[in-house]
Amino acid sequence: MTAFPNLFTPLDTGSVTLRNRIVMGSMHTGLEDRAWHTRRLAEYYATRARGGAGLIITGGHSPNRQGPLLPFGAQLVNRAQARRHRIITRAVHRAGAAIALQILHAGRYAYVPWSVSASRIKAPIDPFTPRALSGPNVDSTVDDYVHCAELARYAGYDGVEIMGGEGYLVNQFLAPRTNHRTDEWGGTPRNRRRFAVEIARRTRAALGPDFLIVFRLSMADLVEDGQTWDEIVVLARELEEAGVSMLNTDIGWHESRVPTIVTSVPRAAFVEFTAELKSHVGIPVCASNRINVPDTAEAILTRGDADLVSMARPLLADPDWPVKARSDRADEINTCIACNQACLDHAFANKTVSCLVNPRAGHETRLELLPTRRARGVAVVGAGPAGLSAAVGLAECGHGVDLFEAADRIGGQFDLARRIPGKEEFAQTLRYFTRRIDTLGVHLHLGTRATVDGLIDGGYDDVVLATGVRPRAPEIPGVDHPSVLTYADLLRQARPVGDRVAVIGAGGIGFDVCEYLTVAGSPTLHLREWKREWGVTDPRSDVRGAVTAVAPIPAARQVVLLQRKSSRFGAGLGRTTGWVHRAAVAARGVEQIGGVRYECIDDRGLTVVHTDGRRQLIEVDDIVLCTGQESVRDLETGLRDAGVGVHVIGGADVAAELDAKRAIRQGTRLAAALGRR
Ligand code: FAD
Ligand code: NAP
Ligand code: SF4
Repeated sequence: MTAFPNLFTPLDTGSVTLRNRIVMGSMHTGLEDRAWHTRRLAEYYATRARGGAGLIITGGHSPNRQGPLLPFGAQLVNRAQARRHRIITRAVHRAGAAIALQILHAGRYAYVPWSVSASRIKAPIDPFTPRALSGPNVDSTVDDYVHCAELARYAGYDGVEIMGGEGYLVNQFLAPRTNHRTDEWGGTPRNRRRFAVEIARRTRAALGPDFLIVFRLSMADLVEDGQTWDEIVVLARELEEAGVSMLNTDIGWHESRVPTIVTSVPRAAFVEFTAELKSHVGIPVCASNRINVPDTAEAILTRGDADLVSMARPLLADPDWPVKARSDRADEINTCIACNQACLDHAFANKTVSCLVNPRAGHETRLELLPTRRARGVAVVGAGPAGLSAAVGLAECGHGVDLFEAADRIGGQFDLARRIPGKEEFAQTLRYFTRRIDTLGVHLHLGTRATVDGLIDGGYDDVVLATGVRPRAPEIPGVDHPSVLTYADLLRQARPVGDRVAVIGAGGIGFDVCEYLTVAGSPTLHLREWKREWGVTDPRSDVRGAVTAVAPIPAARQVVLLQRKSSRFGAGLGRTTGWVHRAAVAARGVEQIGGVRYECIDDRGLTVVHTDGRRQLIEVDDIVLCTGQESVRDLETGLRDAGVGVHVIGGADVAAELDAKRAIRQGTRLAAALGRR
C-alpha cells in the first residue's frame, strides 16, 4: 500500500495503459539535436523509465525545416531519423514506461532567419522577423505535423504530444496577438483555432484509433492579446471531438513577464486553471507547472483537479522520484528546487541540460558513482553543498566518510539561501542530504571545527577540503561602524535592522538581500497575493491572456542597492530567472545607484562619490555588505606539508563566480574519480 494511491493508479488512455499518473513532461536537453547523442539520450530517458515514470514525453522535434528552435535543431522528417529513435523507444519500453514524441514547431520563436508564423510579427525575444505562411503553406504545415506523427509511430513511440502552448507556432495561430490573418486561418476565434484543430483531426485520421495523441494546451497565455478563457474551453472541446486522447496543460508564453516555473512561484500555482478546464471535457487532463513533491501531486489528483500530473524538472533532479514515492521513501527524493540554473539556463545557452542538485542528469553514461574496489577512509571538511555532495557520493561508492562541520547544522551558505523569501525550496536539498547521510552511514560531526592536527591524527587516506567561503570585507573607511553587518549576519538574524537600509554589492546575494529586507512578515507569499503581485487573473475571467495590471506588495522598509559598476543592475543574474529578481526588486521600490565609489561610513550613513565627482550622503540606519566572498583554505598548507592527500573543492577552491551548481558538481565529480581508485 502506498501513501499516494491516486498517483499510482493506472490509466487506460484508449491506446496504451499507463502504469501510473506520472508524466515526465517535455524538456529539451540539447541531446536531441545531434544524431551521435542518441544512445546518451536513450540512457537519460531509460533511467527515468526505470525510476518509475508512467509516460515520458520527449524534447520537442520540429515537423519540418522551418520549425526547429535553432539551426540544425531537432527535427523528425524522414525514416532514417525515425529508425535512430528506435534506440530510445526500445530502451524506455524495456523499462516499462510509455513514451510520446513531442512535435514542436517554434514558429516565430525559431532562432533562424527563415522562421515563419501566422503573421509577420516579430517576437520581442527573437532577433528575426518571421515570414507569414501563405494559405497553402499553412495547409502543408498541418500535413508536416501528420507526417511527423506517422514517423513517430514508425520509430516505436506510443504517441505524440502536439505542442500548442508557450507561444510556439500553434499558439501563434490561436492568439490575436500574433494572428492578424484575414483568410480561413485567422480573423475570427474559430478561424484562429482551425490550425490546431486540423492538426489534431488529420493526425487522428491518419494514425487511427490505436495511437496516443496528447495536445499541450495553453491555459493562460499571460501576454496581452492572448486567448480568452472561453476561447480556450471551446478549443479544448473541439480538440476532443477531433480525436485528441489527452490534454496536457501549459502556462504562459516565453515572452510573458509573469514567472511561471521559477522557485518563487508557489507550488501548483496554476492548477486551478486545469481544474476548471477538466469540468468542460471528457478526456484525461494533465496538470503541470511547479509540482515537485508527491504530497502536492497526490492532492491534485485527490481533489479531482486533474487526471495526471506532469513533472519535467523534478524527474531531472531525481529519476527515481516515482519509485521512492511509491515505496514510502518520499523523504529520500532529491527535490527540484526550481532554480533553472542547470536546466533551462543551459538550454537557453545552447548547453546540454543537467541539474544543479543532480549533476549526473544528462551525463548518465559519463558521470557514474561506481562501487569502489578498495574502500578508503576519507575526511570531508565542511558540510556546504560541495562537502555534502562529495560525502554522500564517496559513501555511495563504498568509502568510509567522516564529515566535519563547524556549525551546528549542515548547508553552509545554502542554509542562508533558503532563508530568502521565495527560496524556501532550497531547504529541500538540505533535507535530502540529511536523509542521504543517514541512509549511507556517513559519520556527521556537527559543531566540530576540523584542525590540521585532528585530521592528521585521524589517519585518513584522503582529506576533502570543502571549507567554502567567507564574506569579503571591503576596504571602506568606517566599515567597522556598528551600523554595518554582513549578509550572513543579517540572514542569521544576528541583530535587527532599521527602516532604512543600504545594500552594498548588487550580485545575486545583493538582490536576494533586497528581497529579504523588503518582504514583510511571513516570507512565503500566499498564492492569492502572489497572483495579485504579478497580475494573474482567475480562470474564467474574460481578460485576454489572463494577465492584468500588477499590484506590488508594499515594501517593509526603504532599501537602496549600490554597485561600483555603471552597467545594468543584475546583468549577471540567471538567464531565465534574473528578470524575475530585477522585476521584484523594482516593484518593491528599491532605489538602485550604480557607478559609485564608497567614500566612508559614519553615524550619518554611507557617503558615495559618483563618476562625475558628485558626493552623496545616503542616510540609512544600517548597511549590509554583499560584496562577494573569499575562499577559506587555512587547513591546506598544514595538511600538504604533513603529506596528507588533499582535494580542494567548491568555494574553498575558487570563490569567484561560485554557485551551488559548481560546488555540487565538483563534489560529485571528485567522488566519482576517487571511487574508481
Ligand atoms: P559553503 O556553503 O561556504 O560551505 C562551507 C562549509 O564549511 C560551511 O558550513 C562552514 O561552516 C564549513 N567549514 C569551514 N571551515 C571548517 C572547518 N575547519 N571545520 C569544519 N567545517 C568548516 N547559489 C546558487 O547556485 N544559487 C542560488 O540561488 C544561490 N543563492 C544564494 C543566496 C544566498 C543568500 C547565499 C548566501 C548564497 C547563495 N548561493 C546560491 C551560493 C551558494 O550557497 C554557495 O555557492 C555554496 O553554498 C558554496 O558551497 P561550498 O560548499 O563550497 O561552501
Ligand atoms: P557576486 O555576484 O560576485 O557579487 C558581488 C558584488 O559585490 C559585485 O556585484 C561587486 O559589484 C561587489 N563587490 C565586489 N568586491 C567589492 C569590493 N571590494 N568593494 C565593494 N563592492 C564589491 O557575488 P555574490 O552576490 O556574493 O554571490 C555569490 C555567488 O552566489 C554568485 O556566484 C552567485 O552566482 C551565487 N548566487 C546566485 C543566485 C541566483 O539567484 N542564481 C543568488 C545568490 C547568489 P561592483 O564591483 O560593481 O561593486
Ligand atoms: Fe530543478 Fe534546478 Fe535541477 Fe533545474 S537545475 S531540475 S530547476 S533543481
